[in-house]
Amino acid sequence: MLDKIKRFILANIFRKNYIRTGKCKGCGECCTHIYVKHFKHVLKDEKEFKRLQYLFKFYSDLEIIGHDELGLIFKCTNLDEETKKCKIHFWRPAICRRYPQEELFAMGGTLSDKCGYKMQPIVSFKDVLKKSQRKIFRTNILTRWSAKNNLMSDEIKKK
Ligand code: SF4
Ligand code: SF4
Repeated sequence: MLDKIKRFILANIFRKNYIRTGKCKGCGECCTHIYVKHFKHVLKDEKEFKRLQYLFKFYSDLEIIGHDELGLIFKCTNLDEETKKCKIHFWRPAICRRYPQEELFAMGGTLSDKCGYKMQPIVSFKDVLKKSQRKIFRTNILTRWSAKNNLMSDEIKKK
């Protein structure tokens, strides 16, 4: 019941499509393969990144380790490479506390296979299919009903 309420609130109030399940296993993967979305775009330009480092504290903790078709790839220097633990865990930024969020998928990212979290669609494919079938059925009924009404009014006019 609680799960149903949670799903309802997420879908209808927060307009979310996914629900996060599982828990962090502390593998550190999400701190070593990072894309940065600034406003509406994923950072691709090193010069832009250097400029942003002056403006945002968290950016100065990131180091460029490569790039791909999506954009620049960073690692966070706050990650202890040996223990895979965050060295500033208590003060870590809000974005790290909220990870993973569904916006990750919107920017083309995915969860690491090692990640202990899973992002599950709130509404299953089966339910989406059922809903759209119901919608098509209702639309068909309405179309037939209005066509029948038009026919009847045409016949009345003729009389
Ligand atoms: S601040 Fe900590 S949790 Fe956030 S990316 Fe860096 S190492 Fe990971
Ligand atoms: S990838 Fe997932 S399991 Fe690994 S540290 Fe990040 S949140 Fe935790």
